[in-house]
Amino acid sequence: MMTVWLAIHCPHCQSTDVKKHGTSSNGKRRYRCLNPDCPYETFSQSIDYPGRRREVKQQIVEMTLNGSGVRDIARVLHVSTATVIQELKKNSPIAMRQSVAVEPTPTRPSGGSG
Ligand SMILES: [Zn+2]
Repeated sequence: MMTVWLAIHCPHCQSTDVKKHGTSSNGKRRYRCLNPDCPYETFSQSIDYPGRRREVKQQIVEMTLNGSGVRDIARVLHVSTATVIQELKKNSPIAMRQSVAVEPTPTRPSGGSG
């Protein structure tokens, strides 16, 4: 599988002039911002969330058309059920019609956005 290089930008100054700076122990990639005006020298970024990738979105639709359930898709593609449902809603009503049971995932009162 090819690794797709996504443009990483500094969350502080939005500069894309960044350089890899190793990986932290909790699985986050660290980057160094090369912008001399940036108040931060380094920052970390979570490993790319696969739900953001176009290929995954395409697979969500295809799997739905093949009769896979939301939870199956989420498990296979390593995304959350919320992501699957979100994509289905954005896509054609054909996908929604084929989808058996689209039920909302219970949301926790507190917690991060993931
Ligand atoms: Zn910066």
